[in-house]
Amino acid sequence: MDKTFQFKVWPVLLEACGELDRATSKFPTWPTDPLHAVGVVAEEMGELQREVLQLTYEPTKSTKESVRKEAIQLAAMSLRFLMSLDQYEYSPGPQHQQIMNPTGHIVFDDVEGAR
Ligand SMILES: [Mg+2]
Repeated sequence: MDKTFQFKVWPVLLEACGELDRATSKFPTWPTDPLHAVGVVAEEMGELQREVLQLTYEPTKSTKESVRKEAIQLAAMSLRFLMSLDQYEYSPGPQHQQIMNPTGHIVFDDVEGAR
């Protein structure tokens, strides 16, 4: 690993680990359902994307520091996701039918055994 890379990666990793520690202390539980877990990661991705969009098109509404903060939070939530890979239970959630009846109305109906 070259020195320039090391000088850039270690401070970022330390900052992400600090955020990981802060977030885990504040919210000690993490979803066992991987779709909920990836939803947390996606939420942070959305917040990062919003900051980047605002800094690009509405530069008075964001800063590079805000972009960095959201990127660190995304890294921390990605680490949390990775930390629980062996704990996830991959099972489908309940589902229901969306049937169009002859009058053109959609009728909702639970599907037995869809879980
Ligand atoms: Mg965030």
